[in-house]
Amino acid sequence: MTSNWELHRGEATRFSCPSCRESLVPVSALDRFAFAFGCSAGHVVGLGELFDRQSAEMRDCVELLIATWEKSIRQMVEGAEIASRHGSQDLSDRLRGRVVVLEAQVALFRETFLKSDPEPGISPR
Ligand SMILES: [Zn+2]
Repeated sequence: MTSNWELHRGEATRFSCPSCRESLVPVSALDRFAFAFGCSAGHVVGLGELFDRQSAEMRDCVELLIATWEKSIRQMVEGAEIASRHGSQDLSDRLRGRVVVLEAQVALFRETFLKSDPEPGISPR
């Protein structure tokens, strides 16, 4: 099942795989933008599992995920321009459509996970 997943090597998180203790890196599916992490042994760990861990670690992982998505956005915008220049308007439109989806996802994640900074010294709970 992991063959559709692209491992973003070189972007190792501080997380380790619950199954084998390998370092986890963000993975992205080629045909849809699911959020997950994977290890080099092929285990895929959902974001929900990682959310059970400490929130500081979770923030790191969301920030890393957003950075990964933003890189993809830049690459797709570039790809769309190249496709357009070469007359592949259909491909260009599809890439731009993906950019819109991914940008919405980045905005949602920023809003959900990175916006509500608790005041220093005030601990929720
Ligand atoms: Zn593993």
